Amino acid sequence: MSSSRVLVLNSGSSSVKYQLLDMRDSSRLAMGLVERIGEESSRLKHTPLASGGASREWTGPMADHEAALKAVSAELAKDGLGLDSPELAAIGHRVVHGGRHFTEPTVIDDAVLAEIERLIPVAPLHNPANLTGIRTARSLRPDLPQVAVFDTAFHTTMPESAARYAIDVETADRHRIRRYGFHGTSHAYVSRATAKLLGRAPEDVNVIVLHLGNGASASAVRGGRCVDTSMGLTPLEGLVMGTRSGDVDPAVIFHLMRVGEMSTDEIDTLLNKKSGLIGLCGDNDMREIRRRIDEGDQRAALAFDIYIHRLKKYIGAYYAVLGKVDAIAFTAGVGENAAPVREAAVAGLEELGMVVDGELNAVRSDEPRLISPGHARVAVAVVPTDEELEIATQTYALVGRI
Ligand code: ADP
Repeated sequence: MSSSRVLVLNSGSSSVKYQLLDMRDSSRLAMGLVERIGEESSRLKHTPLASGGASREWTGPMADHEAALKAVSAELAKDGLGLDSPELAAIGHRVVHGGRHFTEPTVIDDAVLAEIERLIPVAPLHNPANLTGIRTARSLRPDLPQVAVFDTAFHTTMPESAARYAIDVETADRHRIRRYGFHGTSHAYVSRATAKLLGRAPEDVNVIVLHLGNGASASAVRGGRCVDTSMGLTPLEGLVMGTRSGDVDPAVIFHLMRVGEMSTDEIDTLLNKKSGLIGLCGDNDMREIRRRIDEGDQRAALAFDIYIHRLKKYIGAYYAVLGKVDAIAFTAGVGENAAPVREAAVAGLEELGMVVDGELNAVRSDEPRLISPGHARVAVAVVPTDEELEIATQTYALVGRI
């Protein structure tokens, strides 16, 4: 292929994040973000990495995603990298929900769009926004291959025993209720990068991946294939997150309806936006929580303890699911940066072969690295995730085969 560039788009309802990569060496040529699309004060921040220039910011009204993508293209064009460039090989789109149908990255055509649309009932917030981004990009470059890379795809290998909830089978099937899992692109990338760090093939290692960002999920990966993950039908299940509760007794919801007289939407907002760390202590940024703990703040300390308790439960559960664990990998904003979280999550698990070395854990680096001592039975690793590179790599590999 002579054209070697891939544009990665992550479209939200009022935002678009993008990166342009050159797949000859996986280098990043540009990256940026458009926010508040549809408002008077839409904002575009563009960083032209190829030319080494400073970031440029622009604020003004952008009516819709089309206006946003045209503005992005205009910024890229200043360095000869616009959407109309013949060097652009493909556009890779992050799509949150691919259901059971999409197990692989997929070249987008009308049938694929229809299927992503059919999944809107199980992803009402994300899939419509992703579709808007795809439709806009297709209208601007109808000739270009566009690829959907699904957050759920990596988890489609989960066995039925892990993917099914223990509820009436007919009801579950009628409403497509099962555990789909999310952050799959990150879990796939990080589990492979962990195997590489150990100098082994992905097929030969079992890894527990802990993706701890504002959203957080754990996965159990056996020989490169996901066998369990903590998020479910939606990204609400599992770990304590920045603003999401993670696991709660489902009867909490009935209780809030009957006794708390809350509406479905109010409970949805409570559990997704006002719970987790922010609900427990008023902050969802782990840096701020650690600062408050250092000042003796009891609420912040309890929020941290609840966060760690849940994390440890999942490490234990996935140890049991896998039977044998070669590595635990911490990734995303909290996992890559918060040494106290890594230390506390693994503390007391020496009997399981998991130990963190204090000095190694304190090292700050952007590189994948081990933080367990050499003799440890289970490698504990920090592996920075790179979802954009993974989407670009999968997109480029797929269009290379067309
Ligand atoms: P998202 O889920 O939005 O992609 P990220 O993976 O970027 O999130 O993670 C964002 C979170 O990472 C922040 O909310 C904060 O809690 C945490 N974080 C970022 N940098 C640090 C740091 N230096 N120390 C501790 N936590 C950090």
